[in-house]
Parts: sequence; structure tokens; C-alpha cells
Amino acid sequence: MSRRDLLAYLQDFAWREVAIAAVPAPVVAAAQTPAERAAAPAAAAGEDPLAAADLAAMGRALAGCRRCRLAAGRTQVVFGVGHPKARVVFVGEGPGADEDRVGEPFVGRAGQLLNAMLPAIGLARADVYIANVVKCRPPGNRDPESDEAAACLPFLKRQIELIDPEVIVCLGRVAARHLLGTTAPISSYRGRWTKWAGRDVLPTFHPAYLLRNPAAKREAWADLKRLRDRLAAAGRRP
Ligand code: SF4
Repeated sequence: MSRRDLLAYLQDFAWREVAIAAVPAPVVAAAQTPAERAAAPAAAAGEDPLAAADLAAMGRALAGCRRCRLAAGRTQVVFGVGHPKARVVFVGEGPGADEDRVGEPFVGRAGQLLNAMLPAIGLARADVYIANVVKCRPPGNRDPESDEAAACLPFLKRQIELIDPEVIVCLGRVAARHLLGTTAPISSYRGRWTKWAGRDVLPTFHPAYLLRNPAAKREAWADLKRLRDRLAAAGRRP
């Protein structure tokens, strides 16, 4: 997305207080690309992804996972992408068609929207980590079933342990259902800090929902400001 498009987009959000001139350039690009992952040596037979010492090893070990029925329809496991020591981890529900093809989460229209939102609070995609509750595409882009999420959640939890972020942002009602155990409408709890696995979690709307419901962008912006303020209050990691 060009700078001009970003400005137009933020104005559409009514984010006029955002200082576009202050939008920073990406500072770190430490994660493996899908091509790098593909070129990485295959995981040793029987290697336990949950015992991996770092994200790269975990991604290799998980590449052949068949722990749930979603393995049958995937092109590839969509492990996650971003800074291995990110301050913020964004969690969505699962890969869609674009993500399944590319091997990276949030690369479609919703991903482009997320990429456009991050600079408004001084972050770039390369600064954060992005993953999903399930790492294989559900057929027909249906919601993940509870047993599929239960099978895959230990991997997300281990990813988050390795990254050790200050904040998790839960994107959308499906991620919230499986992470936070709530079936309430997301509008009733978005923007309220809560906990998952002992960590601070901020639920907000999924970018795909914002594409369908532009009126919700104001609330999404309010949530992003909460995230920005929390990060500012915590200060930078040494
Ligand atoms: S969704 Fe998760 S648990 Fe299921 S096969 Fe894919 S990686 Fe394994």
C-alpha cells in the first residue's frame, strides 16, 4: 500500500490525529520468509515441535503435522510470521486461501488492512508477530472446529512462550472463542484487557470484519490506541 493510499485509508477511518509524517520505516525483518522455510532442512523424524528451542526449528518440526483433520485439505502449514521477539503478537482464526497458497498469515485483503493499521500506532508488520489459532486452512474457509483448535493451540502457546510478547491482540470472535472461551458477541468485550495463558490480551475486531463493516473502524481505532498507550507505558525493551 502506497503512502497516499495509507493516508486516504486513515482519513476514511477518521484517524485524523495520526501524524502520517511520523510513520516509521520497518526496523527489523528477522522472520523467515516462506521461501526460506521451504529451503530449510526437513524436520528430523519424530521431532517434537513443542520441544523446539526457537521458532525456526519449531516451524520445521510442525511442517508435517497431521494432528487434526485440517491436515487433509491444506497446501502447507501456515506457521506464523514476524519478529521473533515481538512486543505484540496478533492472533487470528486460521489461514484462508491466500495464506494457504503463500504460506504466511494475513496476506489477503484483511492482511493488507492490518498492514495499513499498524503504522498508525508506530508499528510495522516486521515489528510484530502474526499467527493463527489453527495453522492449516479449514475447508471452504469455515470456522475451525473446537477439536481442531484444541489440537493446534499448544503450538500457538509455545510460539508465544518463545516470543515472550508484552501483549497479545486477539483478532475477531473466532479467535476469541478459542483463546478466551467466550461465545459472546465480540462487540461486548472488544477493547477490554483480559488474560490468556497469564498474558495481557486485547480483543478487537478482525480486519475482515472491518472490511465488511466500515462503521466499526472507529472502535477498532480506539482499540489500537489502547494498544499504543499500553506499549508506551511499558517502554521499550532494553
Ligand atoms: S491445524 Fe494445527 S494441529 Fe491441525 S494439522 Fe495443522 S498444524 Fe497440526
